[in-house]
Formats: sequence, structure tokens, C-alpha cells
Amino acid sequence: MDQTDDADTATPRRIVRCPTCGGDSVYSPSNPARPFCSERCKNMDFGAWASETFRVPTQAAPDDLMFNETPRM
Ligand SMILES: [Zn+2]
Repeated sequence: MDQTDDADTATPRRIVRCPTCGGDSVYSPSNPARPFCSERCKNMDFGAWASETFRVPTQAAPDDLMFNETPRM
């Protein structure tokens, strides 16, 4: 019988895209960092998310915008 090839293509492995680096990551219990490709990417993404959450955009105060009507060229 020549059906060994079929078994090879039917591997129950899901490949998803790593949110951090965009690479392939194995979405299976063998990958504890899923959906990230690695623990490193997981930590990196969490760090970026945390810093963005705690960072308050205070570059231009609302009052400043009211008085600054001259367009910058
Ligand atoms: Zn990655």
C-alpha cells in the first residue's frame, strides 16, 4: 500500500502568525508561548502593550491647541 504520504500531510498542527515578529508559530500545547512563536516574542509583546497602556499622551494639552492656530509649514 502506498498511503503513507497521506498520513504525512494530515498532521494536526496549526500554524499561526506570531503577533510580535509575524513569523510562523506552532499553535499547539507543545508551544507554551502560543500564539507567539517563542517566549521571547511573548514577553516583548506584553512589554509593548503594558508601556502603551501606562503611557498617557500628554504631548499637546487641549488648551495649547486652542491658542496655537497658526499652521506649521
Ligand atoms: Zn515571534
